[in-house]
Amino acid sequence: MERSVARMVNVIRGLEGARAASEAARLPASLAGCPVHDLKERLRDAGLRPTRQRVALGWLLFGRGDRHLAAETLFEEAQRARVPVSLATVYNTLNQFTQAGLLREIAVDGGRTYFDTNTSDHHHFFVEGGDTLVDIPGHDLAVTNLPEPPEGMEIARVEVVVRLRRKAS
Ligand SMILES: [Zn+2]
Repeated sequence: MERSVARMVNVIRGLEGARAASEAARLPASLAGCPVHDLKERLRDAGLRPTRQRVALGWLLFGRGDRHLAAETLFEEAQRARVPVSLATVYNTLNQFTQAGLLREIAVDGGRTYFDTNTSDHHHFFVEGGDTLVDIPGHDLAVTNLPEPPEGMEIARVEVVVRLRRKAS
C-alpha cells in the first residue's frame, strides 16, 4: 500500500517536472538558465515562497556545488556578502530548506549540526576535532545485516559517519 502511494507520488512528481519543463520552454530566452530565476523556481517547487532572504541564502548555499556547512558558517558568509540577516533567520531558513527536502541535516556528536546540499544517499568521513565532513560515495560503503525494524516501522535511511583521527606516529 505504502509503496503504491510512493509510486503515485513519483508519477505526480514526474508530471509536475514535465509541466515545469514545458513552462521553462515558454520563458523568454533571457530568463531560461538564469541562476536566480532557477533558484526561485527551485524554492517554489519545494513549496517555499522565494522571499528575498531565502533567495540570498539559497544563492550562497547552492551556488558552489555540493557542500556541508554549519549555520554559523553560512551566517559568516552572509555577513561577508552583506546580506542583512540574523543568525536566528539563518537557522530558521536552514530548517525550512531541510524540511522542504532541499538540504539534509547531519548531526555529529557534540551538538554540531551540518547541512548538506547533496540530498542523495551517501555517508560521511568526519575528522575528530575538526569541522569538516567529507562525502563517502554511496557505493563505497555497504551496510548489511540491518536489524528488523519494530512492528509497524520501516527503515527510512541509514547514515554512517566514519570518524577519523591522525595515526599516532
Ligand atoms: Zn555529504
